[in-house]
Amino acid sequence: MKLDLKLSQKGWILVSVPLAFELIFVITLAFLVRQAEDLAAREKHSKAIIDRANDLAMTYYELIQGIAVYTITGKKERGQQYEDMKSALLTEYKSLTLMVRNNPTQAAEVQQMSELAFKILSRMDQVKKAVDERGKSAALLVLAQTRAQMEKAGAILVGQLRQFSAKEQNSMVTPEAGIRSTFLVKLCLCIGVVFNILVAAALALYFNRGTAQRLGILMDNTNRLARNEALHAPIPGSDEIAHLDRTFRDMVAALAEARRKETAVIDHAVDVICSIDATGRFAAVNPASLKTLGYEPQELIGRLYMELIYPEDRQNTFRQIEEIKTGNGTSSFENRINRKDGQIVDVEWSCHWSESESSMFSVVHDITERKEVERLKQEFVAMVSHDLRTPLTSLQGTLALIRKGTYGSLSEQGQARVINAEKNVLRLINLINELLELEKLEAGKLTMQFGNCQIASVITRSLDSVQSFAEQAEIELEAAQCKAVVYADEDKLIQVLVNLLSNAVKFSPPGGKVAITVTEDERSVELSVTDHGRGIPAKFKDAVFQKFKQVELSDERKKGGTGLGLAICKAIVEQHGGTIGVESEEGKGSTFWFRLPKGKTA
Ligand code: ADP
Repeated sequence: MKLDLKLSQKGWILVSVPLAFELIFVITLAFLVRQAEDLAAREKHSKAIIDRANDLAMTYYELIQGIAVYTITGKKERGQQYEDMKSALLTEYKSLTLMVRNNPTQAAEVQQMSELAFKILSRMDQVKKAVDERGKSAALLVLAQTRAQMEKAGAILVGQLRQFSAKEQNSMVTPEAGIRSTFLVKLCLCIGVVFNILVAAALALYFNRGTAQRLGILMDNTNRLARNEALHAPIPGSDEIAHLDRTFRDMVAALAEARRKETAVIDHAVDVICSIDATGRFAAVNPASLKTLGYEPQELIGRLYMELIYPEDRQNTFRQIEEIKTGNGTSSFENRINRKDGQIVDVEWSCHWSESESSMFSVVHDITERKEVERLKQEFVAMVSHDLRTPLTSLQGTLALIRKGTYGSLSEQGQARVINAEKNVLRLINLINELLELEKLEAGKLTMQFGNCQIASVITRSLDSVQSFAEQAEIELEAAQCKAVVYADEDKLIQVLVNLLSNAVKFSPPGGKVAITVTEDERSVELSVTDHGRGIPAKFKDAVFQKFKQVELSDERKKGGTGLGLAICKAIVEQHGGTIGVESEEGKGSTFWFRLPKGKTA
């Protein structure tokens, strides 16, 4: 049966198995060492008992001699020597009793011997007492009487002591037992070391097979992914490595899917998508190159992109690409390209320079149609300005002469019709003028006369322009005082403010008020024109700044105007680097504002 363990479980085995063996080994070793120590202690104890018993036998003999010498000599110091030996004997008995207290048989034997010894001692004491009290001759008599008994009892006691020693000697640990115990400890050490090495080697082998090899497969798979080669067969099992392998495969599949989608998008893109290497050669191109440039992608790869650029545009293109490389890395520009069939195609390049890959990633968009439309628009504007404005101006002049009666008097009805026709022609001329102006503004062709411009002067001159119109509409104009100066084209600012004021007057009820307010901070000046007219619905707030956008369809007819005024204002304000907007509540009025940066002054 094959064990399918997790990495964490394998880790546990790797640690716990040697640990368990180590533990068993240490316990066995401790046990054996303890045994050896016990043996040594027992041997030491037995030796001490034997020594003590021998000492006792010796002391006993010396005592007998000592009492005999004292009795014969009667010398005091001999008597003292006897006393010292006696107390030494007692101490030795006590110590022997203590040594054998844990062995009841030995304790009983020692007890028996000590009783006999005390008996003999009391006899000796009698002899000593006789010497001390009655003199040598009386004592010699006592000694003679008791000597035989003492020697007999002494022989028994010494015999008992010798027997006791011999028994203890027999019970002593044999040298073989000591050698065997040391051998056992050494054997255990050797077995332990060898076994531990074997266990460690076996575990290392098991771990290497189960883990390191499989990790190797996993790592090799990552290299294969980088080299775009097929991966190894899936790693079987349910541990972390197998799980990681499955996740890695899922990721590879997701990557392949994403790449497939990306390729599909690139292959089917209408624009040319390409990468250009650091030497300026195409490294990759999508199939759209055939339609836009007339070249198959394979024809372009390895070719210098500069070769395709229209010769007159090459210098500018080179400059743009250099700017992208040294600038923020991303930008777009336009140029012309020579198609394979010799046609010239206008294109817009959106480029991104990747420093890490030393490549330029570009999208080349065909703008030939847009350029054509621009050209047509310019032709149309030119046509409108020359072919329409001139005859209309002359028509307006003729109508004015007819109205004034230069060509004879008209009936009242005729006069009214001519006035109406003149008004309409004027509106048309106005519309054309505004259209042309907006066109120029948007194309950046309207030259502005920038200079230091007093906001107070802008306000005064704008109020002068709309004053009579306001009086006719019975609207009161109000304006704030202001000392701000901006760097701007004063006439254009007046044009903006006049447009806002006239709108405010147009859309205010008679008797209403229109106010100009100015707020300024360190960086900008904001002019606002507030009226109390019908206001602007929220959904029109942005739309009113677009061309021909009017809130109500009838505005053109009822209020006059072309729907271009606010679009022109927006273009002018934006050319000054400012912003324009409106705050309004429907039915309560509106506040049109424009903010200009103070920035620079002349
Ligand atoms: P127009 O020449 O028609 O006035 P504008 O671009 O100046 O063109 O204004 C666009 C439209 O925005 C106007 O037709 C009107 O519907 C709306 N509008 C502009 N100013 C105001 C205002 N102060 N109050 C209400 N509506 C306004």
